[in-house]
Amino acid sequence: MKFTDKAKQAAISAAVTKAMDYLEKDPEANIPKVMELVDRLCPDDWYASQRKAVRNVIEAKDNWYQLILRVYDLDPEVRKTFFRNFIINASLNGSATQEHTAEKYNCNVPWAILLDPTSACNLRCTGCWAAEYGHNLSLSLETLDSIIKQGKELGTYMYIYTGGEPMVRKKDLITLCEMHPDCEFLSFTNGTLIDEEFCQEMLRVKNFVPAISLEGFEEANDGRRGPGVYQKVMHAMELLKSHGLPFGISTCYTSRNVYDVSSEEYIDKLIECGAMFVWFFHYMPVGTDAATDLLLTPDQRELMYRKIREYRGTKAIFSIDFQNDAEYIGGCIAGGRHYMHINANGDVEPCAFIHYSDTNIHEQSLLQALRNPLFMAYHDGQPFNKNMLRPCPMLENPQKLRRMVEESGAKSTDMQSPESAEHLCGKCDAYAENWKVRADSLWSERHMQE
Ligand code: SF4
Repeated sequence: MKFTDKAKQAAISAAVTKAMDYLEKDPEANIPKVMELVDRLCPDDWYASQRKAVRNVIEAKDNWYQLILRVYDLDPEVRKTFFRNFIINASLNGSATQEHTAEKYNCNVPWAILLDPTSACNLRCTGCWAAEYGHNLSLSLETLDSIIKQGKELGTYMYIYTGGEPMVRKKDLITLCEMHPDCEFLSFTNGTLIDEEFCQEMLRVKNFVPAISLEGFEEANDGRRGPGVYQKVMHAMELLKSHGLPFGISTCYTSRNVYDVSSEEYIDKLIECGAMFVWFFHYMPVGTDAATDLLLTPDQRELMYRKIREYRGTKAIFSIDFQNDAEYIGGCIAGGRHYMHINANGDVEPCAFIHYSDTNIHEQSLLQALRNPLFMAYHDGQPFNKNMLRPCPMLENPQKLRRMVEESGAKSTDMQSPESAEHLCGKCDAYAENWKVRADSLWSERHMQE
């Protein structure tokens, strides 16, 4: 990194830290003052559009402003740790080191690493891709620690657990929070193992945020996850909210639940329960037995596209719709471009939905994995489509994944029933063709608005 970049980085980190300390004292009164100060001190061309957006939010006192105030209702020590780890370590300083490493080795370096501590789960949900791996695998505490240490060397300070059910290993997850207090840990979870004792542990370590899976209202959720799970999730959210702990919701949308989860009632319910963010995932037909009738019609996907954008302008919750939001991040984020996945067997995969690998973390380093053929195919191929509503090399451009898997020699990582790329991509061909027409028309409509 050049000296001037380093100096700019250090100046920004110091200023952000000071500003955050000041905000802690009286957020409502101090938010506008901090922004005035930032505007006075920053050269005009530093983060100009972002600063303008923040100014607008403050002036309008809109849903984003309400969300900021909700953040200040959280436990102060947890909030301060989150700001330090997420904004300073992972995003400001971490991103600069990631860029430097990426340039040096001419490969992708991720902002976040997804890890499966275990493939075991206490539930059996219909259509869960995690169920496809097999149920007796886990990454040891030493391996998880080693991956995180290697990641930090590359500039990665954000670790996201998935599985299986990561909370089956909750003691180890807390130990990792203690071992790496400078990292932020987020965990996808079915929420059923969150209890008072775990909330106390979260308050103690301060750097763990759950993202609880919810598939809609009680009937739809329990139809997929099992009877009683919805009520257990409601209880977990009550506990987290009462302790001022941050958490979010992860929702997979399918042809069956799309109307529920895109409704205003659903979003309002999540806010009322205390969720700070909601991440929406498009259903992916991964696994030899995966149903294709859960894939969305173009009308259903367009509904999600429009509704989430509408809520972003009106609701006090941070929402991302991963399949429809690629325009904000330049397309597919996998293959280490912004994130990667390591399953419970140690297979290093480009994405949590792409179960192919040419590297195992027990045999090669993280950096080597990023430079191996499959990840380099991602690096060289991204973005996979100019239309950002067709970002995926599997779902919307299945011919690309077929080719990358074949050329890299990557193997299926599904232990129970290995699936060829041809079989997986064959399930996406018709969907991709259908969606292309609608996506192209939405994409031109989007450009006409600019
Ligand atoms: S591979 Fe597909 S699902 Fe994974 S990040 Fe890229 S676009 Fe998203």
